[in-house]
Amino acid sequence: MGTVVEITWIGTSHDNSAVKRAYEAMKTISLRMNPDDPTCDLGRVNSRAGKGFVHVSSQTCRVVREGLRIGKQTKGAFDITLYPLIHLWGFDTKSPHLPSPAAIRNALAHTGLQKVLCDPATHQIKLTEAGMGLDLGGIAKGFAVDKASALLRARGLRTFLVNAGGDLYCAGHPPSRPWRIGIQDPDDPQAVLAILSLTDDRAIATSGDYENYFIRDHIRYHHILDPMTGFPTRGLRSVSVLASTTMEADALATALFVMGKKQAIRWLKAHPAYAGVLVDSLCHIAASHSLNHLIKWKKRVKRNVSYF
Ligand code: ADP
Ligand code: MG
Repeated sequence: MGTVVEITWIGTSHDNSAVKRAYEAMKTISLRMNPDDPTCDLGRVNSRAGKGFVHVSSQTCRVVREGLRIGKQTKGAFDITLYPLIHLWGFDTKSPHLPSPAAIRNALAHTGLQKVLCDPATHQIKLTEAGMGLDLGGIAKGFAVDKASALLRARGLRTFLVNAGGDLYCAGHPPSRPWRIGIQDPDDPQAVLAILSLTDDRAIATSGDYENYFIRDHIRYHHILDPMTGFPTRGLRSVSVLASTTMEADALATALFVMGKKQAIRWLKAHPAYAGVLVDSLCHIAASHSLNHLIKWKKRVKRNVSYF
């Protein structure tokens, strides 16, 4: 999934087999959900677009169903059918580039959540039109973190942190202090804007415009696309979402990033099970008030912060 995974755990045993199992499970998920590999679950679904149903693993079926559900819950801001666009922009390669408006219109015509059929009983998926494709880049990483966490828990570990490039799950309470999670500065990803103190089984994921982008004529084109326009969204620089599962946090961070600041704040207020931190292009920061006692802001940004 193009990222580094780090597992930290606290315990007395020297047996590393649980951690090894967790890494292997994440690797399997990554191999199954590669949209470009016609021999894996997702690649087979994509290569049979417009033809017929494809039988996939229960894992892949689950992630696709969750993707569709979150798509509905966010009124299409999260859209797992954007593969034709992501491929067109080349955000799945090392050299993304600006496509022509006509090519974008054409790719957009082959997207749409309602064109995905998924039978949860038999684990079969069908894309109803040729030219369609699924991309789980906004959700699979979170799912993999949850899977690794469940395996660690099943093997008796209680205090651990699974971090896949900033999408992470923390379990339990380390002895001396809570888990400390930095929120990156979009202008300087080596630096942090704030430190969050987390304990007890919480997930956080971040979407930002500073991970995968190119600049052309002073405009930053990044890898999170607005399903309405086919272009990278504008307005927010990063969105971090806290949830009880990493899969939800991952997908919702992408979705709220697409919605933009006003809509994202409205959505979070209407869904109090989640909390968020939104950083806009002026480095104004809006955060859920439930995070007030968990966040320590860096001095230089304190005056830019408001709570909702
Ligand atoms: P990262 O992978 O850097 O953590 P995200 O979790 O936000 O970032 O996922 C971005 C990826 O999600 C993109 O690379 C692409 O594969 C996919 N994607 C882009 N736009 C959308 C969207 N509107 N809905 C769902 N997935 C998207
Ligand atoms: Mg995400």
